[in-house]
Amino acid sequence: MDLSIVVPLYNEEESLPELCSWIKSVCDLHNYSYEIILVDDGSSDDSWKVIEKLSLENNLIKGIRFQRNYGKSAALNEGFKAAKGDIVITMDADLQDSPDEIPELRRMILEDNFDLISGWKKKRFDNKLTKNLPSKFFNAATRKVSKINLHDFNCGLKAYKNKVVKSIEVYGEMHRYIPLLAKWSGFTKIGEKVVEHRARKYGVTKFGWERFINGFLDLISIVFVGKFTKKPMHFFGLWGTIFFVIGILITLSLIILKMLDPDSFSLTNRPGFFLALTAIIIGMQLFLAGFISELISRNAPGRNVYLIEDKIGL
Ligand code: UDP
Ligand code: MG
Repeated sequence: MDLSIVVPLYNEEESLPELCSWIKSVCDLHNYSYEIILVDDGSSDDSWKVIEKLSLENNLIKGIRFQRNYGKSAALNEGFKAAKGDIVITMDADLQDSPDEIPELRRMILEDNFDLISGWKKKRFDNKLTKNLPSKFFNAATRKVSKINLHDFNCGLKAYKNKVVKSIEVYGEMHRYIPLLAKWSGFTKIGEKVVEHRARKYGVTKFGWERFINGFLDLISIVFVGKFTKKPMHFFGLWGTIFFVIGILITLSLIILKMLDPDSFSLTNRPGFFLALTAIIIGMQLFLAGFISELISRNAPGRNVYLIEDKIGL
């Protein structure tokens, strides 16, 4: 199969018929063999009914329905697991991404041999103040941390080699940082393509102001997770040891000073004593935190398991 189009959706009943028929006409025109995987992230409107109807009309349209709303990352993750196409393309359901971009995205992966192509909404049709500015900020921070040169990390329209989506695990709100996840899994050929961005035709945005806070917390945790999940001791242990050693050294020097000149001062009156105590305590705290994280990270098999109510065609 040439293409899997994965579409995460939450309350997008009005857009789905138009989106699917547009994707179909593009794929038919270019003779692609394809599947459309619609992942209903616990919609409370009639999205699932619409998906059932669409899949009856076209059996290349498949569906996964979550029992509740888990978020876009979870929806993408399940879609990725199901995807069979050589190339996997994700797009939002709200018709802000244009299916007309598919052929060129596919060509860049196939012929230019990219692992991942991220869309770049160079000209955006969103609210300037609440979306465009914060998003510039996010992208700059993410570029700095990841050293991946993309303008628009969070664009819903992306194309991947199949093995890329099978190698990454997207959870929490990590969908903003998929290129980082891919890079850390060893897929370094990451490119971008300027894509057409359209105003939302139906429905409303599903992400409110809390995206700013969550976005940054996720950036911190993704760096931590990417670098230290497998070995949290390497982070906590190092700093724990450093603090502990500093504390012990100060204590020793105080004891030596006291032995050389027993009458000079009382041990507990020295600022150095408190410094030593603090350093030892911080050191032990960090060490313990490292040890506990180590245990937890070995025992979290359920962090990416979602309740699925129904499936069509998969
Ligand atoms: N979405 C989802 N689960 C959620 C929130 C959003 O699957 O909990 C989907 C949504 O239906 C859309 C895509 O993610 O297909 C992007 O969401 P939205 O268009 O609301 O974000 P924006 O374009 O405003 O950044
Ligand atoms: Mg949108």
